[in-house]
Amino acid sequence: MPLIEFSDKGLFCPAGDFYIDPWKPVDKAVITHGHSDHARWGSKFYLCHTDTKPILQQRLGNNNYQGIGWNEPVYLNGVRVSLFPAGHIIGSSQIRVEHNGEIWVISGDYKLENDGLSGQFEPVKCHNFITESTFGLPIYKWKPQQEIYTDMKNWIRKNQSEGKTSILIAYSLGKAQRILLPIADVTDKVFMHGAVYNMHNALANAVPIAIGRKLPTAKRVFDVPKEELKGGVVIAPSGAEGSPWLKRFVPYEIGICSGWMQVRGNVRRKNADAGFAISDHADWNGLIKACKETEAECIYTTHGFQSVFTRYLNEQGIYSKEVKTEYGDDENEEADALIEGENDNSGSLNN
Ligand SMILES: [Zn+2]
Ligand SMILES: [Zn+2]
Repeated sequence: MPLIEFSDKGLFCPAGDFYIDPWKPVDKAVITHGHSDHARWGSKFYLCHTDTKPILQQRLGNNNYQGIGWNEPVYLNGVRVSLFPAGHIIGSSQIRVEHNGEIWVISGDYKLENDGLSGQFEPVKCHNFITESTFGLPIYKWKPQQEIYTDMKNWIRKNQSEGKTSILIAYSLGKAQRILLPIADVTDKVFMHGAVYNMHNALANAVPIAIGRKLPTAKRVFDVPKEELKGGVVIAPSGAEGSPWLKRFVPYEIGICSGWMQVRGNVRRKNADAGFAISDHADWNGLIKACKETEAECIYTTHGFQSVFTRYLNEQGIYSKEVKTEYGDDENEEADALIEGENDNSGSLNN
């Protein structure tokens, strides 16, 4: 019996009787991170990183959560489970599962560059590594984040000098917190769409382990008079693009923060004024480096450009297999942003 099985509810550890990031309700779930395709509603017990706990509470309501720190093993049915930084978003963790000398690591989503909020990704040696492959094509090669931040700051300054409001489209969990850091160098007039604000506020009330202090706060657009918004920076989810909600900011420019903006044409196709190819996922070289450093005998690839990435690894002599899961693309999750926006006046995308 393998230590981890690929079941119709998610990744399953039969010896420990728990699931990892299950997409159906189960008794015991171990969660890599708070994005909605990995942390789903309906399970009886959730084990996650301490920094992920406030995210699950905000997203899934009160429930049976246990938060642990990195490299603090717990035993489930005698199976050793420990978490290591994945560097993807606040609290995101790789899950290391060990039993009878066999070691598996489940990456969830990850990136190698340290964003200052999520902890530094840590390679973990194992026999079997399960990796994402969201940007598993050779064309995806990120610029260092400082260069992207410089571009972003120059764009905001240009808009300020023209009397325009800068609207940055960014995923509410992860990207929104990350871009607050460079924005703070340019202005303290930072406002958030309701959907972004709700998630950010839940996080700002906690003290993330990786940074050891509270996150900067921002005001909710809904709470601020229209005049005050002028010339500021607004962080909004992707569902807000092209919606009437934007009218209150005229004149404005829109910049999209997403790894997909690396592809020429996507900025124009989205009717945006600027694109910032900043991602919370590893690029092509990052994925390869991470896989090699595990020294795993087998790499299982999940969501993304699985077939291209799997074929490449096999050609390099690294045994690799594709696995079908129900994880999605968190750099492009409009539906998710729309659902969260419904709970909030200013979040409604239709008024
Ligand atoms: Zn994610
Ligand atoms: Zn994912």
